[in-house]
Amino acid sequence: MSSLLYRQLAGSYPVAARGEGAFITDRDGRCFIDACGGAAVSSVGHGHPKVLAAMREHLDRIDYVHTSFFTTEATEALADELVAHAPPRMTRVILLSGGSEAMESALKLARQTALERGQAGRTKVISRRQSYHGNTLGALSISGNVGRRKVYAPLLFEAHFIDPCFSYRQRRDGESEEDYGIRAAEELEAKILELGPETVLAFTAETVVGATAGAVPPAPGYLGKVREICDRHGVLLILDEVMCGMGRTGTLHACEQEGVAPDIMAVAKGLGGGYAPIGAVFASEAIHQALAAGSGTLQNGFTYMGHPLACAAALAVQKVIHDEDLLANVRRQGEILRNALEDRLGQHANVGDIRGRGLFLAVEFVENRETKRPFDPGRKLHELVREAAIEEGLLVYAMGGTIDGTRGNHVMLAPPYTIDDGLSGEIAARLATAVQRALSA
Ligand code: PLP
Repeated sequence: MSSLLYRQLAGSYPVAARGEGAFITDRDGRCFIDACGGAAVSSVGHGHPKVLAAMREHLDRIDYVHTSFFTTEATEALADELVAHAPPRMTRVILLSGGSEAMESALKLARQTALERGQAGRTKVISRRQSYHGNTLGALSISGNVGRRKVYAPLLFEAHFIDPCFSYRQRRDGESEEDYGIRAAEELEAKILELGPETVLAFTAETVVGATAGAVPPAPGYLGKVREICDRHGVLLILDEVMCGMGRTGTLHACEQEGVAPDIMAVAKGLGGGYAPIGAVFASEAIHQALAAGSGTLQNGFTYMGHPLACAAALAVQKVIHDEDLLANVRRQGEILRNALEDRLGQHANVGDIRGRGLFLAVEFVENRETKRPFDPGRKLHELVREAAIEEGLLVYAMGGTIDGTRGNHVMLAPPYTIDDGLSGEIAARLATAVQRALSA
């Protein structure tokens, strides 16, 4: 009998005893391939000796200080490291405790910036359907994840939603990827004009959509057009790279591949790789200047922001990514894993789409490949696949409601950046077996 209020109250969970690389072993000796890094968290794998050593070494020096009294070497070094490799013109960073806190802080930073610029009337946030930005009430307010919003809807502030850029589901027959990207972005401009440009504070989007729709990259040109529209109307562009950022897609930031720099960007998960709870918000130099020339204060704080141990862990994780050339491995293994998935599942009658970037991949299931008709949501196929995968010793991130919050099923793969050819093949093989078992259940 546990004292914990579990995610599934009647659930029973194996007790994780050891983590090593891409593997987690439970107390009974069962070993699992962590092919989703928990929730795309584990970037350098479990138990990396260099990260553990850096954390131990740091703990012998200082455990905690409050940011109103002190800064620390680890905090400063991590901030320097992040800014040195940030998208163009992003020169400052706020260090926080996770993805929701980062997105919450991104929203607050946008609002404070508008005030410092004398634009108090900018209050409206535009976001996208089929998105997720976190579970705190502010971050949930701008999230398009129907299931996660439902219970809390009366407590959320009103945000404004446009369609996601989701080529497999929304590109028209005969429409090129590029034309679709522009059409999807133009929806943003229409929404800004409808709301009144001088009232719009920010547009927020996951650069590559994560769990809600399953590793959906933007169509070519989409994000560039979005940037142009935001600039035209003085709207801040907030990119949420909590899940897709920090190397997951093969470049440190997913927006690099789009040639776009946001005004504000949130990262988390892969930043600390699971060794400590940490998230970060990047701010452009223009935002920094607005605050510096205005109130000169950041109107937002948390007890654990810039936590020294978390910063030391994240710094060590970033060093491992650099020293072991892991971004190159993400690109290489991303190809290998994707090809292996194509080989095993690409022709399967119930696989509609295999998509994603780098080691951020998803398989979307359909009842009919030609019409893309999804399965009956009541069947909860994604859960059946997840359970069958666990039986195969494989952990995958499964979700339903891929299309609109109700219809559609997918599983996502986000293994550590350290995997090799053999493991990529093994992940695809076990997933294919699990899919077959789930479909015949
Ligand atoms: N943003 C995105 C894109 C996410 O995927 C998540 C979590 O899955 C969050 C924000 C919230 O992060 P956290 O769960 O660390 O609070």
